[in-house]
Amino acid sequence: MLPQLRLGGTTATIAPGLMLESGTGPGGGSTMSLGVCQRIPEATLRRWGSSALIKAYDDVEALLSVRDIPRSDLSRLNTLFLQGGRALSYRMRRLRDNRDSCVGAGFCALGCARQARVDAGRLLHEAQQHGAHLIQGAKVTGLQVRKRRIQGVEGIADGRQFSIKADRVILAAGAVMSSMLATGVSRGAGHGLFFHPTARVLGLFPAPVVGWEGIPRSVACVQFVDDGIWLSPSSTHPATLAGWLPGSTEARAHLLGRMRSLALCEVAVADSAVGRVRSHRGRPQVDYAVSASARAALAKGVTEAARLWLAAGARRVVIPWAEPAILNTLADAELLRTALPSPEDPLISRWPGGGLAAVSDEHGEIDGITGLHAADTALLPEATAVPPILTAYALGWRVAGALTGQ
Ligand SMILES: Cc1cc2nc3c(=O)[nH]c(=O)nc-3n(C[C@H](O)[C@H](O)[C@H](O)COP(=O)(O)OP(=O)(O)OC[C@H]3O[C@@H](n4cnc5c(N)ncnc54)[C@H](O)[C@@H]3O)c2cc1C
Repeated sequence: MLPQLRLGGTTATIAPGLMLESGTGPGGGSTMSLGVCQRIPEATLRRWGSSALIKAYDDVEALLSVRDIPRSDLSRLNTLFLQGGRALSYRMRRLRDNRDSCVGAGFCALGCARQARVDAGRLLHEAQQHGAHLIQGAKVTGLQVRKRRIQGVEGIADGRQFSIKADRVILAAGAVMSSMLATGVSRGAGHGLFFHPTARVLGLFPAPVVGWEGIPRSVACVQFVDDGIWLSPSSTHPATLAGWLPGSTEARAHLLGRMRSLALCEVAVADSAVGRVRSHRGRPQVDYAVSASARAALAKGVTEAARLWLAAGARRVVIPWAEPAILNTLADAELLRTALPSPEDPLISRWPGGGLAAVSDEHGEIDGITGLHAADTALLPEATAVPPILTAYALGWRVAGALTGQ
C-alpha cells in the first residue's frame, strides 16, 4: 500500500524561514490532514458573534462521522506523549477524527492510500455521483463583477483560458487564494490574514517509538491553549523527516540512523499579527512576518514540548533549528525559554486563515457583492491555536444552508 506522497500538496515560503503547507486538488487540505476534527470553544464563537456555528458543528460532525479516537488506537508515539504530559500534570486531551476505515498505516499527511477519512475529497466524489460537474486542474484567475453583482469567473484549464457565467460564486480556495481572488473586486479583501507558525521538537528515546506507525495524532496537550499554544505529536515518517532535518550531513545521518527511536512534537502558535495578501501578476504576494509575541510563544511552547519528552523518558531532545539545540536534562530545557527563534530557524504553517473576515457577512457574502460568497478559512477572524478544518467545514455548511434556504 503506497501513500499518495503529497501528489496534491504544495509548500511555499511566505516569510523568512516560514513554509506554508497546503493541499491542492479536489478536497484541498482535507485529503492530507491528520484527521483531527476540533471545535473552536463556544466562548470564542460567541465573542465572534458566530454562535450559529455550534449547530453547524453538530451537522458536519454527523456528516463526516466524527468520532472520539478510541483509546485502543493510541500509537506508541501518542502514548508516550500522553505519559509525558501527565507526568507534568498538564491538561491533555484525546482527540476526535473523521477516519472510518483506517488501518493505521501512519502516512496521512502524505495522502491516504485507502482514503480512510470522510473528507472533502470523498464528499466531492459523492456530489459528482449526484450530478455535480467538477473541472479538475482548473485555476480561477479572476472574478467578473458588474454593478456589484457577480457575473462569473475566468481562469485557465489545460493551458486554455476559460470563463464561466454564474450568478453565484463561492470562493473556497483557502485563506490565501480566496482572499487574493477577492482583492480584484473588494478593497478590504486580503487584510487580516493570519498564520500558526509551527516548530518541531524531537525526543530521542532509549527504545523504539516507530513514530510513523498508527494514527499519528490522537492526543494533544491543551495546557497552553489560552496562551495560543497547541502541542501535539506528529509522524516521523522517513519520507518527510529526511526532508526537514537540519544540521551537518553527519548530524542528519546520526538522527536518521536513530529514526525508529525518535518522537516528534509540533508546537503551533496562534499569530494574529495581521498579514496581508495582494495579487501580483495573478500570484499571491503575502506580507507577513512572525510577530515578536509569536516568537515568544514558540520559545515557551518548544520549552514545554522538550520538558514533556524528557518527562516521558526521552534520553535527549533535539530542536531542529538552523543550529540544532541538543538538551539532556530539564535544566537544559529551561534555557530555551528565552531563546526566541530567529528568522533563519525553519518553521512551518498549515493553518492559515482570515483575509475576508472583515468584508463578509454571516452568510459569507463578500462586501455586499450580490452572489459572491466565501466558504472557507478566509472567513475566520483570528487565530485560535485550534486545528481549523472542522470549522472550515462548518463555515461551508452554514453558507450552503443560507444559499439553499435550509
Ligand atoms: C499536512 C497537513 C495536515 C493537516 N492536518 C490537519 C488536521 O489534522 N486538522 C485540522 O483541523 N487541520 C489540518 N490541516 C489544515 C487543514 O488542512 C486546513 O486548515 C484546511 O484544509 C483549510 O481548508 P480551506 O477550505 O480553507 O482550504 P484548502 O483545504 O486549502 O482548499 C483550497 C482548495 O482550493 C484550491 N485552489 C486554490 N487556489 C485556486 C484557484 N485559483 N483556482 C481553483 N482552485 C484553487 C486548492 O487546490 C484547494 O483544493 C492540515 C494541513 C496540512 C497541510
